[in-house]
Amino acid sequence: MGNLLTVGSVAFDTIETPFGKAERILGGAGTYISLTASYFRKPVQLVSVVGNDFRQRDLAMMEEAGIDISGVQQKTDEKSFFWAGKYFNDMNHRDTLETQLNVLGTFDPVIPESYKDCDYLMLGNLSPAVQQQVIDRLPSRPKLVVMDTMNFWISSFMDDLKTVIGNVDVLIINEEEARQLTGQYSLVVAAREINAMGPNIVVIKKGEHGALLFYHGQIFFVPALPLEVVFDPTGAGDTFAGGFIGHIARKDSTSFETMKEAMVYGSAMASFCVEKFGVEGILNRSNEEIENRVKLFRSLVQ
Ligand code: AMP
Repeated sequence: MGNLLTVGSVAFDTIETPFGKAERILGGAGTYISLTASYFRKPVQLVSVVGNDFRQRDLAMMEEAGIDISGVQQKTDEKSFFWAGKYFNDMNHRDTLETQLNVLGTFDPVIPESYKDCDYLMLGNLSPAVQQQVIDRLPSRPKLVVMDTMNFWISSFMDDLKTVIGNVDVLIINEEEARQLTGQYSLVVAAREINAMGPNIVVIKKGEHGALLFYHGQIFFVPALPLEVVFDPTGAGDTFAGGFIGHIARKDSTSFETMKEAMVYGSAMASFCVEKFGVEGILNRSNEEIENRVKLFRSLVQ
């Protein structure tokens, strides 16, 4: 098993879907990733920042789930990162209604001494400058650096983003963002262009149409589970990333075989996420439930 460090937003989200609205619930990329990865490897070391409005019970819940929060700073003079999004009937697309960076705008990540022996680094969604600082502040290069990002950063922080992309091994990105980043419609061409930017391995998520893994010239595809209920897709991408890196850290391997399995675990965890609002779908899952979901995925394609 390898040590796993993750960085990403820990936030409040207001989410509206055709099924209802939830105000200021626990969210953030770092939250979804670390909660999910904790099913595979404990502790998951988290680097993030929250504000004076953050609820202690949420931090306590994360700690109880197996997340080491000693790298989560709490700022007394600022508010937590806040994001509001709205989904319409086609749940593959959403509008961002509001992004308030608050504490994320000035975040200066501190890596605790106990985190420095890092084997696997998951750079979740947040400012690319901070993602790069985390890489720079580790004493040695991890075995694998995986990165996620989103349209917000692609639209306005392209230079910083390209610097980090040039320093990671795996980029996880959704299809719309892959096209936005490269200007290419074909995902095969887009993946090749991303390879040229730095990462040898590219994962392109296609929402309800599954996900593609481009691994050193080989391609693997995993479908999404056809679900009766898709209640709230928020965090599905981060949950996928948490399952993906969690399985890799648990296996302590970066082989094609391990990454193919990691794609299945990521997709299985994401299928739990979308069934409920916010993080609710990924809390209190048993190993048996997770393995049963993975079996369902296998039976879909066999
Ligand atoms: P996903 O649905 O996987 O793309 O992730 C949604 C989560 O990302 C939400 O919980 C938000 O709090 C968080 N988020 C949204 N915008 C940003 C951003 N610009 N930087 C960091 N995290 C964000």
